[in-house]
Amino acid sequence: GQAMSYRASLNLPKFAIPVRRPARSPEHAERLRRLWAEAYAWQLRDGRPRQVFSLHDGPPYANGKPHVGHALNKVLKDSVSRYQLLRGRQVRFRLGWDCHGLPIELKAKPTQSAAGSDSAEPAADCSPANQIRQRARAFADQCIAEQRLAFQHWGVLSASAEHYETKSPGYVARQLLAFDRLHSLGLVYRSFLPVHWSDSSATALAEAELVYRDDHRSDSAFVLMPLIRLSADASAPEALRDSGGEQQPRHHLLVWTTTPWTLPANAAVAVGPGMRYSLRRLPDGRTVVVAASWPGFGGGGGGGGGGGGVELGEPLAEFPADALIGATYRHPFSNAECPVLPSDHVTEDKGTGLVHVAPAHGREDFQLGIKFKLPLVSMVTEAGRFGGPGLSESLEELNGRHCLTEGSGAVLDLLRRRSLLAHTEALVHSYPYDWRTGRPVMLRASSQWFLDTAGLRDRALTALDTVRILPDREAGAMRAFVAARPYWCISRQRVHGVPIPVLYDESTGDPVYDSQLTRRFAEHVAETGSADSWFELSADQLAEKFGSSELRHRRLKKSGDIFDIWMDSGLSWAVAGEAGDLDADGQASLCVEGQDQFRGWFSSSLLLSVALTGRPPYKSLAVHGFTVDETGRKMSKSVGNVVDPEQVILRHGPDGLRYWAASAGLAVRPEIGDRLLAAADGHVKRLRSHLRFLLGCVSDLPLSETVRTAICHPADAGYLALLADFVRSIEAAFDACDTGAVCRQLEQLLSQAAGPYLAAVKHRLYCFPADSPDRRSAQAALWQSLRAITMATAPVLPHLAEEVYAALPVDGFGGRPAESPTSVCLEAWQFPDLSDSSDSRTLLGRQLLALFRLRSAAFAGSDEFAQAASAAARLSLAPLSAGWELLLANDALPWRPEAKEDPRFGRLAETLRCSSVRVVRATEFESLRAADRRVLTDCDLGDVGVLVEEVRPDVSSDCPRCRRRVAKASAGDTCGDDELCQQCADFLLDGWASDAESSETATRR
Ligand SMILES: [Zn+2]
Repeated sequence: GQAMSYRASLNLPKFAIPVRRPARSPEHAERLRRLWAEAYAWQLRDGRPRQVFSLHDGPPYANGKPHVGHALNKVLKDSVSRYQLLRGRQVRFRLGWDCHGLPIELKAKPTQSAAGSDSAEPAADCSPANQIRQRARAFADQCIAEQRLAFQHWGVLSASAEHYETKSPGYVARQLLAFDRLHSLGLVYRSFLPVHWSDSSATALAEAELVYRDDHRSDSAFVLMPLIRLSADASAPEALRDSGGEQQPRHHLLVWTTTPWTLPANAAVAVGPGMRYSLRRLPDGRTVVVAASWPGFGGGGGGGGGGGGVELGEPLAEFPADALIGATYRHPFSNAECPVLPSDHVTEDKGTGLVHVAPAHGREDFQLGIKFKLPLVSMVTEAGRFGGPGLSESLEELNGRHCLTEGSGAVLDLLRRRSLLAHTEALVHSYPYDWRTGRPVMLRASSQWFLDTAGLRDRALTALDTVRILPDREAGAMRAFVAARPYWCISRQRVHGVPIPVLYDESTGDPVYDSQLTRRFAEHVAETGSADSWFELSADQLAEKFGSSELRHRRLKKSGDIFDIWMDSGLSWAVAGEAGDLDADGQASLCVEGQDQFRGWFSSSLLLSVALTGRPPYKSLAVHGFTVDETGRKMSKSVGNVVDPEQVILRHGPDGLRYWAASAGLAVRPEIGDRLLAAADGHVKRLRSHLRFLLGCVSDLPLSETVRTAICHPADAGYLALLADFVRSIEAAFDACDTGAVCRQLEQLLSQAAGPYLAAVKHRLYCFPADSPDRRSAQAALWQSLRAITMATAPVLPHLAEEVYAALPVDGFGGRPAESPTSVCLEAWQFPDLSDSSDSRTLLGRQLLALFRLRSAAFAGSDEFAQAASAAARLSLAPLSAGWELLLANDALPWRPEAKEDPRFGRLAETLRCSSVRVVRATEFESLRAADRRVLTDCDLGDVGVLVEEVRPDVSSDCPRCRRRVAKASAGDTCGDDELCQQCADFLLDGWASDAESSETATRR
């Protein structure tokens, strides 16, 4: 009864948002989507001069459902761009999709049932290539629609704006023109070169389309190549010189290879200049030349080990590489006389020091072939089988055999029959695989188009020096890749993509490039909406329709080659520039992608931008890792650990998903799983609960008054200093794209400062007269806290921040332009009330933290305290304030109490939430500790000794209004148990409780 009436005299918070996040109704989601679409469009239109922040979106493949990797990437981008918007920048962030490429083409094959709906059925009268292309486009459109909807559900600010896609007519036309420009600059060329060839996909692959597997098993072979003669001027030892001649070769070169199937294409053997070689004897009596340092068979050619019973005799002679250079040997299959050549790529740490050279099947081999004019023989078809004009009649039995499997064994059999195989060893080593088919690839020479990476390398590296790369640990990774990239094959033998606009001479096969044809065809694409004509028309028709008069009366053919998809996406900056999406320098302020894009999009964009504009397309790059489960395994359907972002949203809300993604941030191996998602959900709930309380506590704050002058309590001033530190740390974290640090700072603020502070000021907020300066001071600080935490939360958890923003007691924090949509994302990141960084305020902040630590340490060990704390929490009305008296011993205690402060009602007792705080001199403290008193806990916090004593019930009473247990002023005090404490009695005497009725009504809402 009486408690209820006192309750009416308290200033309890008026909660403006519910404890639990509201259910996700489609209407609510749609309202938010529209609000953010308006806000995004508004800030683009807003005419005020503002710095541009351009976040250029690396396009994901439009070939599947949205997954957690997308969520991580898009939430990072969205959080950073929302932050930049709060910082007053004009944000340009347009979503993009990569629509071409083999994965999409494979899904669009007529045999695949996943080819899309009936409405997507292509016209029956078009060519087979165009049927595939049309189905692939329809499939990509479906994926884009699905992914875009998901991005909207995740709250991506720009997800409702227009996007870009690499298959749009404008994009394709732009790309054709870029090729024309590159051709005129001499930066593209056609060449017969060894490229990574996937026979399982029947196409050349770029480095970025390979995965290296460490468990690849090869049959490595030690092959005998009969030495015919030495160079005339070689200073060879007598033992070697006595070679036996062409008819009866006495010595053999012992050559090691891990790819026996390339031996038919052998053209030379290379030795390392500067290395030493020796002559040794095999068990069968034959003598072989090997590197002097070679330890013998076994261990995969690397040396050491058992050797499989094949032992070599002691060296018969040792000599420098010069003795071998210029010598000739007999080809193991064709019997041709082939040269021994010097090459720096031969090293002592691998093999026998004698390296088999097949210019069609290796990059160093190819370079060596160019240098010494070796024949370039290829006897491997596009299907990866032996065949074609290069295969001689003597090797007929290899014809049609698959090189990487049975072909390898067939070659070894041939060698065995010719007694040229000294030894074989299985070797497990790193080997490139086709990332799509999971099959090993081979190096095979074919005619392809290339971008001149060698010619661009130095410029690209110089350009890269100007790019900031985040996080710091990744700064060197891209440089190494750009520096090492040998060449970039930009052609693919597929149909779903942008055709390479080149015709070829029918008899020689040489390219016939016509700039006019490219430019007019680009116009045609832009006008008609697709490049399908290229696949529909014959070479002659194309030449007649688009080409210049140069092409008339020539016998031409066309190739079906399309551009590598990295050439598509690598030009997205050019399309973005034309759409006005880049900054004033024509660059992106930031790109954020997975680590693999150093090899992929980041480098293809860099090379093409440097080639066409001379500068990098971006100012800074940030990379994140690839999501794994909580035990560190990759996400995989077969393991069953794939997390569906839509399911996460159903369970934890979009902000739960976002908090997980933001806290993963730029981590190397971000993990996801039930435990981490529940933890993320917990953090969102804590933030929600905290913000809800802040909202409730400031509901009656007259915000028209200057908040700054209201601060009169040292705890409040100290807390503002802590809040200012927090804001600075959030700024630093966002500037480094480190949303993980943003989350950690938020968690730390809540647990170490904002939470304890809120607990400490509840007494003042609830029990003090509404207008009392101490209460207004706390409210003013809480208003600043509400603003800072809401603003820091808004980029990461926009759904929660928007809900809080709409529930503010006034219209916004005062930083939003008057005529703009009512969204927190258009607020200004300004905290004038936190600008006081004077020494005295900083000191107050440090002291407040020390008091919070002191309190939790002093009470940590006390079970009775824990019980009292939970009992007080259950009461929920009253501020937590147990019946403890703290005795603090130190003359240098932070926050010395004021001279005439009652130890029961002073600011120390209030902030430490206990019945009384007395500060005593060190000597007195020691005697109190020694005396027989009821000490609950006794701890020493550095300089400050703390004694916690229970306030004995017989000399105290629990105040029915504020719920504090307060010692009676004197032993003779005769107050009853329900007696108000002195402070409450004084407050009530002031007669301010007149609005008690309205206060109670409000709490019942
Ligand atoms: Zn009281």
